[in-house]
Amino acid sequence: MFIMRIDRVTIYSFSVKLKSPFKIALGVSTTSSGYIVRIETNNGLIGYGEASPAKNILGDDMESCLTTLKLLSKKIVGMEIKSMEKLEGIISGIKGSASAKCAISMALWDLWARAHEEPLYILLGGDKPRIETDYTIGIKGVKETVDEAVMLAKMGFKTLKIKVGEDPKEDVERIRAVREALGDKVNIRIDANQGWNYEEALWVIKEIKDLDIQLIEQPLPANDLKGLAKLKAKSDIPIMLDESIHNSYDAITAIKLNACDVINIKLMKAASIKEAIKIAHIAEAAEIPVMVGCMAELQVGILAGVNFACGLNAIKYADLDADLMAEKSIVNVRSMEVPFRFPIERPGLGFEDKDINYDLLTKEAEVHRD
Ligand SMILES: [Mg+2]
Repeated sequence: MFIMRIDRVTIYSFSVKLKSPFKIALGVSTTSSGYIVRIETNNGLIGYGEASPAKNILGDDMESCLTTLKLLSKKIVGMEIKSMEKLEGIISGIKGSASAKCAISMALWDLWARAHEEPLYILLGGDKPRIETDYTIGIKGVKETVDEAVMLAKMGFKTLKIKVGEDPKEDVERIRAVREALGDKVNIRIDANQGWNYEEALWVIKEIKDLDIQLIEQPLPANDLKGLAKLKAKSDIPIMLDESIHNSYDAITAIKLNACDVINIKLMKAASIKEAIKIAHIAEAAEIPVMVGCMAELQVGILAGVNFACGLNAIKYADLDADLMAEKSIVNVRSMEVPFRFPIERPGLGFEDKDINYDLLTKEAEVHRD
């Protein structure tokens, strides 16, 4: 049988400006910076992955991410693309930057799917040809929030995610203003990014109880699972956990404590596709719906998220919008028809080398077989 081996791993960095500054309770960002990993095999197939490091959530940064990318590249060069369990074992076997581990995992799953000549979501077992995404509005004034919400609704978005968590009173004002401006035309989710304390969260929940809010994401600090369980028991609005749940262990812990109604899986937090699948299956077993979210990924990471979301039944919601906020695209592909995201119906993640804007990428390192 033909053996497919990894011949070469190339790591590129990028930094793309956002269309406007994006503010959440944890800070403001003005760029999307990260790495693209390109893995080539001896038979000419190429797989792609993306790392989106985030100090405040993942604990990694550009520097630590690159260190881990180089280390993993050395470990996988020469290996066969055959058993994903074996390849994932190498990734999970090291401590290091979560986003770097995720990028390598993504590229390996992409290659594996390309080798099987099917889109990744089909090989994950899925049959959803598309999934609705929300669009996220960062923290801004009441008028700016309403203006943006009205514009997004006009564009065709059916679900808006409003960032809150800076000032409970203003948060309530902004949510109420959007609901009043748009009536029942849109679903509203809110995300506090750990910004409230227990009393504040309880107060906000009481104030917005008649505003038909679909979900409240991460109202309390990530480690306060007991507080979150107490809040969930008192809240009529479902509580979704994001920063509290990075991996399968976190998911089991939160579920045991009855601390969540919904889980937000992000490939970057899970640090690998395999770990993300594990969380989704744990959630499904516990009858907890899953949302797939993103960090600041551009097209490669978002397409992996879309394939993951369309590949598993546990996933009911998507918040896959980060690439839409960037000024430029690093891959020229179409995977959006507002409000839906769809995987490209070609092998792996579906794009080709010629679709990549290499002028936006800077080569940082290359590891190859001797
Ligand atoms: Mg979140």
